Amino acid sequence: MITKIKNNWLFFKQPEDCILCGINPANETSLCQHCYTDLPWIRYACKRCGIPLNTCDQIDLTCPACLHSPPIFDQAVAPFEYRFPIDQLIQLAKFSNQSHYLNPLAALLCSHLLKPDSSTVKYPMPEMIIPVPIHPKRLQQRQYNQAALLGREIAKRLQIPFNTKLVIKTTNTPHQADLNRKARKKNLRNSFRCTHKPPSSVAIIDDVMTTGTTAAEISRILKASGCLNIYIWTIAHTAKQLHLG
Ligand SMILES: [Zn+2]
Ligand SMILES: [Zn+2]
Repeated sequence: MITKIKNNWLFFKQPEDCILCGINPANETSLCQHCYTDLPWIRYACKRCGIPLNTCDQIDLTCPACLHSPPIFDQAVAPFEYRFPIDQLIQLAKFSNQSHYLNPLAALLCSHLLKPDSSTVKYPMPEMIIPVPIHPKRLQQRQYNQAALLGREIAKRLQIPFNTKLVIKTTNTPHQADLNRKARKKNLRNSFRCTHKPPSSVAIIDDVMTTGTTAAEISRILKASGCLNIYIWTIAHTAKQLHLG
């Protein structure tokens, strides 16, 4: 790649190597084309909750759970299944202080949002992007909120306003990972607060979608404050592929 610098001298810049194989030159997502194609992409997903599905037979893909009782948010998007190497990248970014892995993950999510594989899926863009907030005490322990770093990068790439103050976490609740779905819901109830009037559409960013309890609780608060459309954008979905028909 030839780059022009300030004084008009030209110099040759070596393209970066792929962060996964370390061999081939990387594209704008920091991965080479081979590793990019090899990622655990979710091919078909419920257009409402994002759960991976095994079929594309129906044009309007909605899972039975969403048909029966749709979630409070309008659309959840997750490009990947939570398995190798995506799970490793997320874990490194989250627990090993290697937050530089969040930028490639944000780039991958953006490339999915902008170029959907299936023409039957559309991704409306929000007026504002917000992260799933963490309590200030936990932020102090962890030093950064990975959802906020992801959100900032996604917002920058999509040129959408980013806000970390619209929804705040007011109660330092126990870790969700140790709880079942019912206990998760109870644990989170009223632990978030919307600080001012939200715009009519918001995308909430998190690294992983598990049961969707957190996303639903923040959506509930935002809708109660007047937000009309809520999208949940995560890197990966932990649910196993659902077999339809
Ligand atoms: Zn590679
Ligand atoms: Zn669904």
